[in-house]
This record gives sequence, structure tokens and C-alpha cells, in this order.
Amino acid sequence: MLRTSGEIDTGPRGNPDRRSRPVKTSVGFQCFSHHRWLTLLRKLGRCSPSNREAGMGVYEGGCLCGAVRYETLADPLRVTTCHCRFCQRATGSAYVVEPIFRTVDFRVTQGSPSTYNHRSEGSGKLVYIHFCAACRTKLYMTFERFQTSCGVYAGTFDDPNWFEIGDSNSKHIFIEAARHETILPPGIPAFSQHAMTNDGAPQEPMVFEEPRVVGRGVTS
Ligand SMILES: [Zn+2]
Ligand SMILES: [Zn+2]
Repeated sequence: MLRTSGEIDTGPRGNPDRRSRPVKTSVGFQCFSHHRWLTLLRKLGRCSPSNREAGMGVYEGGCLCGAVRYETLADPLRVTTCHCRFCQRATGSAYVVEPIFRTVDFRVTQGSPSTYNHRSEGSGKLVYIHFCAACRTKLYMTFERFQTSCGVYAGTFDDPNWFEIGDSNSKHIFIEAARHETILPPGIPAFSQHAMTNDGAPQEPMVFEEPRVVGRGVTS
């Protein structure tokens, strides 16, 4: 059920036994034991053996105070670095580094984040920002527009550098809103605004051959 913009769902607070039994979270999907999680995914045909089972990386993260913890079970589908005003204001910084995961490859393992629902000025769709009710750290976003994906605030990973950012899996978007004197790396596709329009039409990226200073309205 969708809420109007600006409403905060504080959700249930921490439960020390949350790993061992299913608990409805404020984002509408559930926390399962690891075994039950794998069983469900296989039954749905949506997952080959997980990274953990295959001996590959399972990467954990959490909020400042430690009340909310999460883990990812696969590499990100892609990594978006966004310079838009929403991301600047939400992070209190110049831009957000946002690895995108399938929601089936992401789960909350401890605590229960609260949710702030923000209506996007561009698309008119809701963005659900999940944060710790105790320390207010923002952890991840889910989307009305892209319901099988979630974007993690990269700085909340215990190791924020565990995933690669390269020309094949990443892009910079909304560079027209970038903070003055922002320097973009060469070789990474960059877009003035979104990489696609609201109706799904792809936009042509810019790819710089050398580091490029943007901001002050400089986009090419
Ligand atoms: Zn916290
Ligand atoms: Zn943004």
C-alpha cells in the first residue's frame, strides 16, 4: 500500500530473534533464515546457488549505531553515481554512489528500518528511503517504478569498495546538477539527466576521454 509523499512509517523496532523466523518488514518483503531464503528463491526459479553457498562474497553493511544490518547475495546489476539535487539533499553530500541489486539478492538481517516515501519530481513515482529509526542513517532505496530492484547507499557497506566501478557496469547521471568543479573520470558513460526518459527511451551518453570538470551547467 502506498503512502503519500512525506509520510514516515516507523515500523517495528529491533527483534533479537529476527534471523531465525520470518518477520514482515516495513518494505513489504520478509526476512528469512538463510536456508529458507535459498529454498524460496530456488522454488521461484529466480536464483542459482547464492554467492554464500558458492563460496563467493556475501557483503554486509549497516547503519551508524548498528541497530540495522543487511547483506547482499550477488554482485550489483549496475552502479549509478547520481548528482541530482534529490541525491545531494538526501545524502547531505555532492552525489550518491548507488549499486543496484535485485531485491531477491538483498535482505535485512537485523533490525527493522523505517521508511520515508518521497515522490520523484521527475517521474511522479514514489521512492522509498529506508533508514534506521535510531540513528537515522539512510541505508537503501526501493522504487515504485522499478519494483524488482533496490539501490544501496554504498557508504553503508562495511567495505564500500568491494564492488568494482567500471565503464561496463556504471554511469554518472544528472551531471548538469553536479556540484561546481566536480571531476568525472574518463571512460564512464555520463548523462545530463536520466539515462532514459520516463517512457523508457534510452538517452545518448557522453563519454569523456580525459577527466572532465563539470558543474556550473557544464555538461559537454
Ligand atoms: Zn542505526
Ligand atoms: Zn539522484
